[in-house]
Amino acid sequence: MSKTETHAFQTEVNQLLKLMIHALYSNKEIFLRELVSNASDALDKLRFEAVSNDKLTEGESELAITVGFDKEARTVTITDNGIGMTRDEVIANIGTIANSGTKKFLDSLSGDQAKDSNLIGQFGVGFYASFIVADNVELITRKAGDNVSEGTKWISQGEGEFTLETVTKATKGTEIILHLKEDMDEFLNDSRLKNIITTYSDHISFPIKMLEEQKDEEGKDTGKKVLEQVNKATALWRLPKSEISEEEYNNFYQTLSHDFDAPVATLHNKVEGSLEYTSLLYLPKKAPFDLYDRERRYGLKLYVKRVFIMDDAENLLPTYLRFVRGVIDSDDLPLNVSREILQSNRVVDKIRAASVKRILGAIAKMAKAEDKTAYNEFIAQFGSVLKEGVVEDMANKDKISQLLRFASTTSGSAEPTVALADYIDRMQADQDAIYYITADSYAAAAGSPHLEMFRKKGIEVLLLSEKIDEWLVNHLTDFEGKTLTSITTADLKAFDDEADSKLTDEDKKDREALTEKVKATISELVSDVQITHRLTESPACVVSAEGDMSAQMARMMEQMGQAMPKQLPVLELNPDHALVKQLASIKDEAELKEWSLFLLEQAQLAEGDQLDNPAEFIKRMNSLLAEKV
Ligand code: ADP
Repeated sequence: MSKTETHAFQTEVNQLLKLMIHALYSNKEIFLRELVSNASDALDKLRFEAVSNDKLTEGESELAITVGFDKEARTVTITDNGIGMTRDEVIANIGTIANSGTKKFLDSLSGDQAKDSNLIGQFGVGFYASFIVADNVELITRKAGDNVSEGTKWISQGEGEFTLETVTKATKGTEIILHLKEDMDEFLNDSRLKNIITTYSDHISFPIKMLEEQKDEEGKDTGKKVLEQVNKATALWRLPKSEISEEEYNNFYQTLSHDFDAPVATLHNKVEGSLEYTSLLYLPKKAPFDLYDRERRYGLKLYVKRVFIMDDAENLLPTYLRFVRGVIDSDDLPLNVSREILQSNRVVDKIRAASVKRILGAIAKMAKAEDKTAYNEFIAQFGSVLKEGVVEDMANKDKISQLLRFASTTSGSAEPTVALADYIDRMQADQDAIYYITADSYAAAAGSPHLEMFRKKGIEVLLLSEKIDEWLVNHLTDFEGKTLTSITTADLKAFDDEADSKLTDEDKKDREALTEKVKATISELVSDVQITHRLTESPACVVSAEGDMSAQMARMMEQMGQAMPKQLPVLELNPDHALVKQLASIKDEAELKEWSLFLLEQAQLAEGDQLDNPAEFIKRMNSLLAEKV
């Protein structure tokens, strides 16, 4: 006797379903592409596992997908004789949203349907696309090799819950029965279904079959129906480029990636010689939501002599190119290759090096295009992961550096559009450093007092505000012979030579006396007090002492839970500022200390530092203000 159990979907599934049904309504035929793609994956997996355990084929020699429909029952059915699922796998794969990236995706939704519909394109939907056209979905599956009585039937209306029942299923694999919604009759049509299959799934490497009228020798209907293959079933990447249209490339990409956008670049190469392989690589338009999710597996699909070996073969590309999707089909790897073997394999190393070269070449081509829109969009999506490459891929460091784009004081916008080469072109005649500032946000970088002198002198400064930037500049210390220099640690004495030369000895002495005096009152909080070369408007700023880590780096290490030895900053004073001028005349030591602390604390705040005791700062500021009123 079989028992029916009712389970609730994870709440996220409900939310996702609603959104997706709405967003994809105008593109509803893609449900078939998604289900065929899953079926094809299941066949790939079976074929791979059967290499080491031929019992799994259960005596069926042909692996295929069947699509059928029933006008009376108003159902469309997709069947595969692939790997199938156990009951537990059904619960894990179909009832839950397993990866944390999906949660992040859902958290980022605004509730504004128009905006959210756009977002759904960044998320691969897969099986749930069934609910765009169906209001009741049955999935009947049995894992290859399991007893026929161990099948599982899953039914759901896509509204909060699903039922599970143990059933007998004679054949391995999965059958999906879609009970169509009222207005979906268009799919109860032979030529409509065929058309969708040949449009989106022509190059799935397994046959997709539909029932056709059998004809007799004279071409007349015999009244009998037989299964006939609808798609070409040639692995697309094995065809010569000249035989593949852009549309076919794009459709194959969408089947492969579950992406709803077309890719921005397609790289198809057949390599012959000492090493033989084919690579078909795609650069997506949008970054997936889980691009920074450490648990997420990335990589290409690996085939050996057309036999699918694994998904997400991460060793075929370096981590910083994990957004690239595609297929590698090698003739030189063994069929029983494992992830462990891939980690240190000469063939893999060569394929990877060549693929990286092609991908970086394609990105560089995009960067050189007259119209920068596509490249700016690409950088907005993938600029930060590309920066990881400077650290990860020493061999290609120069090439990658050329591809990076930054915001700067000259570009005047938060969008990263400035190449290091652009910066060098604009450098002043006697300038030999590429100046930058790092901060927590673009606004903090662009508003930093450290920029004052650079603005006055018209020197461009790169404004770096991504988390990765601090690491980037630690590894990218120079570019085309110019040193990358932080304006918060740079020695800028030279900037002031002109002004300094006008100072009388008396002035110099006064300034020295002032810094000594201030330093004495707050000596436990600063490593030094100096006259600044950086400020024109603000009274004070803090900089890192020579040899110390930059303040931004120290903050990041602390956020990561690293205990940091306390680094005392250098306080720099602007002698031309009214507040600083006034300091010189204060005789009372307690009062001087209050003012000195006030200047130090406001400089730290401007830097994005957390004050140890913000309440005390406010109190101090208020009492100093009160004295003035
Ligand atoms: P994705 O395919 O992106 O992983 P889906 O929601 O389409 O997401 O499917 C979730 C999982 O369910 C798949 O990864 C696979 O493990 C399983 N699955 C879906 N369809 C089938 C099928 N026809 N045969 C076997 N397993 C399947």
